[in-house]
Amino acid sequence: MTADTSSRVILKPRKARPFFARHPWVLDSAIERVEGAPADGDVAELFSDRGQWIARGVYNSQSRIRLRLYTWRLDEPLDGAFWRRRIEAAIAMRGELFPPAAHQALRLVYSEGDGLSGLIVDRYGDYLVMQIAALAIARRLDGIVEALVERLRPRGVLVRCDRDIARLEGLPAVLGDEAGWGETPDGPVFIEEHGLRFGVDLAAGQKTGFYFDQRENRRVAAGYFRDRRLLDVFCYSGGFALHAARLGGAGEVLGVDSSPQAITLAKANAELNAIANVRFECGDAFRTLEALAADGRRFGAVVLDPPKFARRRQAVEEALRAYHKLNLLALSVLEPGGILVTCSCSGHVTRADFLHVLAEVAERAGRDIQVLEQRGAAADHPVSATCLESEYLKCFVCRIA
Ligand code: SAH
Repeated sequence: MTADTSSRVILKPRKARPFFARHPWVLDSAIERVEGAPADGDVAELFSDRGQWIARGVYNSQSRIRLRLYTWRLDEPLDGAFWRRRIEAAIAMRGELFPPAAHQALRLVYSEGDGLSGLIVDRYGDYLVMQIAALAIARRLDGIVEALVERLRPRGVLVRCDRDIARLEGLPAVLGDEAGWGETPDGPVFIEEHGLRFGVDLAAGQKTGFYFDQRENRRVAAGYFRDRRLLDVFCYSGGFALHAARLGGAGEVLGVDSSPQAITLAKANAELNAIANVRFECGDAFRTLEALAADGRRFGAVVLDPPKFARRRQAVEEALRAYHKLNLLALSVLEPGGILVTCSCSGHVTRADFLHVLAEVAERAGRDIQVLEQRGAAADHPVSATCLESEYLKCFVCRIA
């Protein structure tokens, strides 16, 4: 394969540096011209304005990420064998890093973190759930599913896609309802995490069904909660709450989420694990915290694990204000010496931004915030050093004076 056979994307002057540095997203604003009229989903070669070959990717005129880069090796074609090799490498990496028992509930492929921009694959026992966020992947779905099925022999592969991302990438026309393979489970699928069991709704649950990224944070946070009364805000299916009660020896635990489906899942999971000292309530996080504070309720620990507040870079300021408000409310129900586990999964909000929010909250509340641990996502969500957008999760364990 030479660079001469396919279409060419040529960068504007002085725009090449990030792509020599292996960043995989070529935005439309960096592009001078496109030669060879590639169709959406076709392979194209990236060149600097001086005619130097940089990388190879997949073209999509409908996305702001006009070209997604997948290889920086001139001799590596993006053919069927390539996608297979990348998937194989991602799975093999988990094989090296995780004990066999952990492989039943694991992220097997994490997008840019595994050199597969736009593809997420989570494993839930006998089922795989894929999340597609790029046309490049959607167009190659059959081959990718085939590779996964051959390698892992699942009972079924479900394909999911965030509606907003689908629109941004022009996916609806490509991903039909019949995407996927094999069986769809007719009830919850059960997984184990740190000895706790969780029922997961693969077809209708949030994202792919479970938040694997917080796996180690749930375990570590639990270690801070002994004999403390805990408020788990944005509890979803009860991850932090149940770890706190079972592994952490927390006192009473209250979980809150605005989604009735999440609360149903959380209650079922408490029952499944025969945990009696947890309660789950449906409610808005902000309003619930305000009401608890007004009632004079106090907790020894609070977990805040909100959904993404900043979906776009332009929304960062607004998101920071929401984080400020939320954390300030959490402090208002925390006893002196209380533990705050506070998270942000907005990729556009940096670690420094988030720390700055905590500084402002400390100032506003007139209380010291001691950051005890600064954590990220579990190791099955590797961060690509050359694509820092893959580092989205911040999880700080703090002590509030
Ligand atoms: N901590 C969970 C994951 C939380 S995901 C775990 O370990 O599995 C974020 C959750 O916030 C979702 O369950 C969503 O339903 C909930 N949510 C979103 N907006 C909310 C709001 N305003 N008030 C309360 N919960 C909200």
